[in-house]
Amino acid sequence: MRLRLLPVVAAALVLTGCTIPTEGAAAADRPDTSAPAPLLSAAPVAEGGLHGRTIFLDPGHSGSHDAAITAQVPTGRGGTKDCQTTGTNTDDGYPEHTLAWQVVGLMRTQLESLGARVVLSRTDDTSVGSCVDERAAAANASGADAVVAVHADGAAPDEHGFHVCYSAPPLNPVQTGPSVAFATAMRDAMTASGFTPSTYVGNRGLKGRDDLAGLNLATRPSVLVELGNMRNPDEARAMTGDDGRARYARAVVAGIVGFLGG
Ligand SMILES: [Zn+2]
Repeated sequence: MRLRLLPVVAAALVLTGCTIPTEGAAAADRPDTSAPAPLLSAAPVAEGGLHGRTIFLDPGHSGSHDAAITAQVPTGRGGTKDCQTTGTNTDDGYPEHTLAWQVVGLMRTQLESLGARVVLSRTDDTSVGSCVDERAAAANASGADAVVAVHADGAAPDEHGFHVCYSAPPLNPVQTGPSVAFATAMRDAMTASGFTPSTYVGNRGLKGRDDLAGLNLATRPSVLVELGNMRNPDEARAMTGDDGRARYARAVVAGIVGFLGG
């Protein structure tokens, strides 16, 4: 057993510059953004700690689109929805699909250094990628121990923070148990890494959703991480910088490690 340790979790403790919002008059109507006590310790992760594990990473959206973007595909709950969406961008035009692609690339390197096999949902950030249902099928077929879709939100500029989505109500036993545990571990790792739970959606950084086909169709433990709000100036700055993206990547990897037990 190799004893060299990688400080994957401990390295992610620098603060973002985001602040916990002060309680205002409308606090009762706001999501609870108080930081939960993290389950994840800052213990280092052993190199090879994910050996034998498969991680499926879905950088949200695609590098380009054609008319097929509106082709209707199953939602996983009996309805249909568009094959894909274009995503959002910062005010300066840095696109969500590129942020997702770059963060996933960093994550892939870190996960492979921990011994994991990594499978991606798309091969580049230029071509038309697959539909959301196809990505779910690919994730399921990969036999992944953990599936993470990486996105970022486009909300009002004075809102900020991350949130982790999971399928709710659950549609199978994996969604009932492991996916919720995974979402919780991811939320805890993001918080332990200094990121603020969303000020505008969800409950302490967690959000059950019934409208995301990738999560509805999942038969492997699956979450969708909204890293933050691309329309918020502070978060846009972090997302457009190498250091900021590296911090996001380390935090999401820490969430995978927290779930799988490294
Ligand atoms: Zn997105």
